[in-house]
Amino acid sequence: MDESVLDKLKTLAESAKYDVSCASSGTVRKNQPGGLGNTVGGMGICHSFTEDGRCVSLLKIMLTNYCIYDCAYCINRRSNDIRRATFSVKELVELTIEFYRRNYIEGLFLSSGIVRNPDYTMERLVRVAKDLRTIHRFNGYIHLKSIPGASRELVNEAGLYADRMSVNLEIPTEENLKLLAPEKNHLSVFQPMSYIQQGMMQSLEDRRKFRSAPRFVPAGQSTQMIVGATQETDKDILRISSALYRRPSMKRVYYSGFIPVNSYDNRLPALKQPPLVRENRLYQADWLMRFYEFRADEIVDETSPNLDLEIDPKLAWALRHPEAFPVDLQKADYSLILRVPGIGVRSAKLIIASRRFGRLTASQLKKMGIVMKKAQYFITCNELPMHTIHEAGPEYIRQQLIARKTKAKNEDDRQLSLLFTDP
Ligand code: SF4
Repeated sequence: MDESVLDKLKTLAESAKYDVSCASSGTVRKNQPGGLGNTVGGMGICHSFTEDGRCVSLLKIMLTNYCIYDCAYCINRRSNDIRRATFSVKELVELTIEFYRRNYIEGLFLSSGIVRNPDYTMERLVRVAKDLRTIHRFNGYIHLKSIPGASRELVNEAGLYADRMSVNLEIPTEENLKLLAPEKNHLSVFQPMSYIQQGMMQSLEDRRKFRSAPRFVPAGQSTQMIVGATQETDKDILRISSALYRRPSMKRVYYSGFIPVNSYDNRLPALKQPPLVRENRLYQADWLMRFYEFRADEIVDETSPNLDLEIDPKLAWALRHPEAFPVDLQKADYSLILRVPGIGVRSAKLIIASRRFGRLTASQLKKMGIVMKKAQYFITCNELPMHTIHEAGPEYIRQQLIARKTKAKNEDDRQLSLLFTDP
C-alpha cells in the first residue's frame, strides 16, 4: 500500500475512533515468527451488527479530519493542533476495495469532518458510496454519516447507496448544543434525519407498487448522544431517545460516555474518566424501551430523574413498584412477565409456551435461563418459597442483590489475579 495512503489511514482511523456506532477493535498485537495473524493490519477495523444480527467487520474511517467547526467535545475541532489528513474519493474507494478483497472487512463505516460547508463534504461522502456501488459493484455493507445541515438532494442520493445512515445528535438539548457546538443546532440534525425517514417511507411505498424500485437505507438510521458532557439528566436523554424511536426509521440510539479529549476547554466538566457505568445503564434502559415495553417516563421520572448506578433499571423499577408484584407466572400476561427482574424476552416466551402443559417448577424456570436470584422476590409459582418483595421489602432485596453482585465481582477479580500471577 502507498506510504502516503497508509499515513492517512493511521490518522483518519484514529480520528474516527470516538464514534461509538460500531465498537473499535483497538488492540495492537504484532505477528511473531511462527505466529499466525496480527491485529495491527486491521487498523481502523471495527465490528458492527447488521439488521439480521450478523456481526460484520467494517473499515471505520473519516474522509477527512479537517473541520471548519469547533465543537468543544471533539478531538477534530478546528482549534486543536492534531495531525490532519484527507483522502481523495478515489483513494478511499480503492482502499475499501483492497481491504475487502483481502478479506479484512465486509463493509465501510464512513464519517467526516466538515470542509468548506456541509454540502461540499456530503457530496464527497456520496461519491465514495456511489463509486463503490456503481463502478466497483461493491455489495458490502455501507454505513454513511450524514453531515448536519446537508441538503435533501444529497441525503436522498446517499440513501440509494448506503445500507444505514446516521446523523449524530451529540448533545441532547438545543441550549447545551449551542453552548458546546455553536455552529450547529438541532434543526441541522433533525432535518437530515427527516429526509432519511421520508426517503425510506417513499421507497417502501414505491416497492409495494414496483418490486424493482430502488431500496433506500434498508438498515434504517441511527444516532449518537454524548453522555456526561452537559447537565442533562437521564430523564432528558431517554425522553429524546423515546421520541426518536417513535420514528419507524430509527433503529438505534447510541450513548457515548463523554471522553475528556479537550480538557483545556472550561465549558466541559472536569471528568477523570468517562461515565461508563452510566453509559451502560442507559443502554439497559434503551433495551427496556425497545424490547420490554417500558416507557421512558416509567424508567425515570420527576422523583428519580437519573438511573440508579448500583442496580439495573428494570430492577430499580420493580423495587419502586412493589404493588405490581408478585407476578403469577402460571397466569400472568406476557407484558407482566416481561417486567419481572431476571426474566428476559426469550424466557418470557418460553414461560408462556411451557405453562400450557402443566405447572412450572423452579428447576424448569432455571433451565429457561431465568435468573432466580433476582426473580424469586417477584414471582409466585408452584413450589417456590413465598418470600416475595412484600415480605422481604424493597430495601432488603436491593442490599442483598448489590452484595451478591459485589461478591461475584470480587471472586471474578480474584480468579483473574490468580490467572495472571506467576506460579
Ligand atoms: S462537526 Fe463533527 S468533526 Fe467537526 S468539530 Fe464538530 S463533531 Fe468534530
